[in-house]
Amino acid sequence: MDETIRGVIFDIDGVLEYQGVVFPGAIETVQALRQKGLALRFLTNSTLKNRQTCAAKLNRKGFRVDPSEVFTASYIAAVYLRGLNPRSCWVMLEAEGLEEFKDIPQDEENPEYLVVGDNRSRFDFQTLNKALRCLRRGSKLIGLLSELVDSSLGELELNVGSWVGMLERASGVPAVYTGKPAAFAFELALKSIGLEACQVLMVGDRVSSDIQGAQACGMKTALLRTGEFQPGDLEGAVQPDYLFDSISEILEIFPPG
Ligand SMILES: [Mg+2]
Repeated sequence: MDETIRGVIFDIDGVLEYQGVVFPGAIETVQALRQKGLALRFLTNSTLKNRQTCAAKLNRKGFRVDPSEVFTASYIAAVYLRGLNPRSCWVMLEAEGLEEFKDIPQDEENPEYLVVGDNRSRFDFQTLNKALRCLRRGSKLIGLLSELVDSSLGELELNVGSWVGMLERASGVPAVYTGKPAAFAFELALKSIGLEACQVLMVGDRVSSDIQGAQACGMKTALLRTGEFQPGDLEGAVQPDYLFDSISEILEIFPPG
């Protein structure tokens, strides 16, 4: 097997940008890799954005990204759900991410699947109890991602995994998670490239989601000491193939020319 890297999958938050600010050299690095003929994808655990709005936001900042190259947690969960041929679902999610599910019948009373993303304005006592009762009556539970906390918007916040975990414990219904580090997320992006896993490099800032999940799928990995990275992240068994201080250093992997 030729293990030359021919494709790169970028995490977005903490890799291309952080807290709304693009990292120096990020736009140029992505463009340089594109000019070298590498297949590029963008894989994010953002649930609030859909493929179109995520690509549009990156393009407004100076990147050149096609929506078909973007895999948001909302898009990934919708693909997963469609594969189950669902009778109905209640998608606890807001903003543009919800549009990914618009072709699936919605039912907030008796859904076959309860799908939980970032529903920040509706994670209240009444709505969560309604969700709990659905699960006790037999709805199946899908979590868009398992991460418990996030600080990509500035202040530390509860992330989707915290809410899903609470519903799992209270209902006794185990969740299926579809976003990183779930294999489904990486495999969906990989499948769209059409390369073997060992020919694709995942670039991320989180060992527990980007690096661990990509390695489990057989991909090569580069960890950036940016974004959410903490030095303690490298004390465990999971180690990246490459470790860099900034995104521009990724170009060192690829021969010039
Ligand atoms: Mg990240």
